[in-house]
Amino acid sequence: MKKRTDAIKVLVVEDSKVTLKVLCNFLERMDIKQPLTAETGAAAIELYRKERPDIILLDAQLPDIDGFEIAKQVRATEHNDDWTAIIFLTSMTKDEDLARGIDVGGDDYLLKPVSEVVLRAKVRAMSRLIEMQRALVDVSHQLNAANKELQRLSTTDGLTGIPNRRMFDELSIREWRRCERMKKPIALVMLDIDNFKLFNDQYGHQAGDDCLRAVAGQVVRAAPRASDLAARYGGEEFVLVLGETDADGARWVAENVRQHINELGIPHATPSRRVTISCGVASVMPRSNLSLEVLLRTADHALYEAKAAGRDQVIVGKYGNT
Ligand code: GH3
Ligand code: MG
Ligand code: MG
Ligand code: MG
Repeated sequence: MKKRTDAIKVLVVEDSKVTLKVLCNFLERMDIKQPLTAETGAAAIELYRKERPDIILLDAQLPDIDGFEIAKQVRATEHNDDWTAIIFLTSMTKDEDLARGIDVGGDDYLLKPVSEVVLRAKVRAMSRLIEMQRALVDVSHQLNAANKELQRLSTTDGLTGIPNRRMFDELSIREWRRCERMKKPIALVMLDIDNFKLFNDQYGHQAGDDCLRAVAGQVVRAAPRASDLAARYGGEEFVLVLGETDADGARWVAENVRQHINELGIPHATPSRRVTISCGVASVMPRSNLSLEVLLRTADHALYEAKAAGRDQVIVGKYGNT
């Protein structure tokens, strides 16, 4: 962050060479190194665009574009975070002219001939404002970053690092609506680790957590498209949202995850000797008389059937069969 006046960039716009020289001397005496200078409005605007000075000392009357117009253009090109202090230099003493300068975006004015003491005081005052404004911008950037991080944390599962239930709730309904607009089917896959309670009992909670992370990794691999979502639904359950996917496509995806988890070969004291999952699949063409809730219940019911049928398998449910 820039601090004292020697770090402040000043642009002096003045068509009288003599006045320009005097002003530059004053500025240099207050440790403002090499002020930028322009003798016409056009040159001033170009320098402003290129150099983005902190302060512009702006002659109200110039041969081409007058100072008021320049101030307007500067204000129009400023982005959210930047602000340039504009001090008008004017020999006009009519109150209306001074008011007009402030109206078009000026921050202050100096009467010509400019006194060194007054210039020094005004540049100091503006520098203080600039510092405060920079500090505010810093704080607002920090706040934005903190908000982003909060948002990320509130939608990410702490254990596995993949999207959580909340993210699923938000994105699944969005995907449902998108598929409805596109007139494409949407599929859900519910995945649940088999006999996981036993796994925890046998190998401990820590090993259980490691297993969950490994399984999450495989579930995420199954959702590579931008519109796909893999989330931890809760406990040892995961869910896949697959846009533009029919039942056969979703069955194929689920079957793949099931196999990949099998291939992880995580030892488990069950007949298959390894960690396995069961999957329930459901797909439908979204329409206004249908609902995501029912689709979710259908997938859940299919998962229940997969468990009942002996686990380590994929069952596709029929929408509404809950
Ligand atoms: P099923 O094959 O029918 O799904 O049986 P299951 O044992 O997997 O199902 P159950 O619902 O009885 O048990 C789920 C277990 O998952 C119990 C719970 O301790 C464990 N679990 C849930 N969340 C976590 C977690 O974050 N870490 C660990 N280590 N275990 C978890
Ligand atoms: Mg002039
Ligand atoms: Mg389970
Ligand atoms: Mg479960």
